Amino acid sequence: MNADPLKQYLLAEGATLAGVGDVTRALSAEIIHLGRGIAIAVNRSLTRESVDLLVRLQALTEGWLKANGFRSLSIPPDSDRRNGKMITKLYKLFCHKTAATCAGLGWVGKNGLIINRQYGSKLSWATVLTDAPLDTDSPTSVSECGVCDLCVRHCPSGAVKGDLWSIDDPMKEIVSYEKCRALKGKITSLSGKPNCGFCITVCPYSRNLGRREKIA
Ligand code: SF4
Ligand code: SF4
Repeated sequence: MNADPLKQYLLAEGATLAGVGDVTRALSAEIIHLGRGIAIAVNRSLTRESVDLLVRLQALTEGWLKANGFRSLSIPPDSDRRNGKMITKLYKLFCHKTAATCAGLGWVGKNGLIINRQYGSKLSWATVLTDAPLDTDSPTSVSECGVCDLCVRHCPSGAVKGDLWSIDDPMKEIVSYEKCRALKGKITSLSGKPNCGFCITVCPYSRNLGRREKIA
């Protein structure tokens, strides 16, 4: 089933990127029938406005799929911030990074975030799972960080370990979220906000420098 009309629709409605991946091997038994993951990204940080836009794009996707006779399940863009809701349990079984990499829209960088060649990691993501037999994009299977270690050297907490991601070992802990959280907790107690993000700002892809060879 041609996925281009849906992708074009989403891009026209404000998505920055849209792709389709076969996510079957990442699904638990409860949702195994929803084997296609539609990855949707907007070129903004995860603010209230970008969450609203992504939720609207998910609703449009669900409407499009329903009109074509298919089922769907939206994994909210901010589901990792929700507590005590049913979707929180499902989110533990499915992660936006899976759909993004399976749809070929990026790899998991050494900073633990999806890196897209054009936009780096300054993207916010949402996923719609579906049983529609949409044609899939070619997955990204290995990291393209190579020898770059800028985020490793600039992380003030030592949380970024420097490991390369591969689709064959998607659950590998590339970043120590414990160390990252501890540092953000200290920053919050001093300034009121958990600002850090050096691992994003130093990344040449996020700085639109493109290929890492351009790094001085
Ligand atoms: S947000 Fe800061 S502490 Fe956390 S991994 Fe990135 S650079 Fe390190
Ligand atoms: S800074 Fe370098 S190593 Fe870190 S995520 Fe970006 S490209 Fe990869």
